[in-house]
Amino acid sequence: MSARIIDGKKIAAGIREEIRQRVLQLQEATGKVPGLAAVLIGDDPASATYVRTKTKACHEVGIASRQFTPPGDIEQADLQRLIRDLNGDPEIHGILVQLPLAKHLDERAVLETVDPRKDVDGFTFANIGRLVENQPQFVPCTPAGIIELLDREGIEIKGKHAVVVGRSEIVGKPVAFLLLHRHATVTICHSRTADLGSETRRADILVAAVGRPRLITGAMLKPGAVVIDVGINRVDGKLVGDVDFESAVRVASAITPVPGGVGPMTVAILLRNTLQAFERSLA
Ligand code: NDP
Repeated sequence: MSARIIDGKKIAAGIREEIRQRVLQLQEATGKVPGLAAVLIGDDPASATYVRTKTKACHEVGIASRQFTPPGDIEQADLQRLIRDLNGDPEIHGILVQLPLAKHLDERAVLETVDPRKDVDGFTFANIGRLVENQPQFVPCTPAGIIELLDREGIEIKGKHAVVVGRSEIVGKPVAFLLLHRHATVTICHSRTADLGSETRRADILVAAVGRPRLITGAMLKPGAVVIDVGINRVDGKLVGDVDFESAVRVASAITPVPGGVGPMTVAILLRNTLQAFERSLA
């Protein structure tokens, strides 16, 4: 058996086209466009690449993006002042603060400065609480993208056993809540899980968000499982996931590749969240 490859790039392109058309429609109706502010502190090359990808994607769908690039040694109070200014700017509907922040900055305090109505990454306590209560306002982009992939591939979630490997605030925990709200039975694994393979072999849907190259092998999967590989790891100059694709593709029924699986969905959902923030501002 060889699994169906889930083409995240193609699905994300479809979502971007839907957004582009909606932005155009709203622009004709109101004369306004959605605006996203990206705050990139310091000169970390990986963060700069992510912000570049996001601002380019904004441009392609007609979202106005503005980049703010304060120096790496910016004081906490100055950064919070910048974010408060953006909270009050009527042309900015979404604010993203690219993580990780430099060590001298208090990440939680910075994130809490973002107005939850502009928190398109879904990282504020207010939006996390709403997600947990199943009354979401903005859901973090990667977890929301995973659910969208499953839906658009016609993969049933209800009643399935979903196993999430990883319990981070930005991927593992929120995707576990989303799967739970869609009536999956959810197991969350982490670095202290005693026997990872015996947990993953029970998964109808397996989400790997670990950051360990090729940790999940085909032998750790139930035959016919749906495998969502969130991992982005650089090995010998090549991007690989948290799943050993070669062995997993022979056991799974469907699998996302790395690159070209979850990654493009993350960006598409960021655009969609920004569009939603704009639409709410018009209401
Ligand atoms: P974190 O490092 O924040 O979390 C990793 C999680 O994996 C932790 O919960 C950790 O457990 C767990 N873990 C580590 N080692 C093991 C192990 N041997 N067995 C089981 N669990 C383990 O990572 P993120 O969630 O931020 O990211 C995960 C991966 O996804 C990374 O490769 C990242 O680059 C990628 N990523 C991809 C995105 C995309 O758009 N495609 C977006 C965001 C992330 P513990 O809590 O016990 O330490």
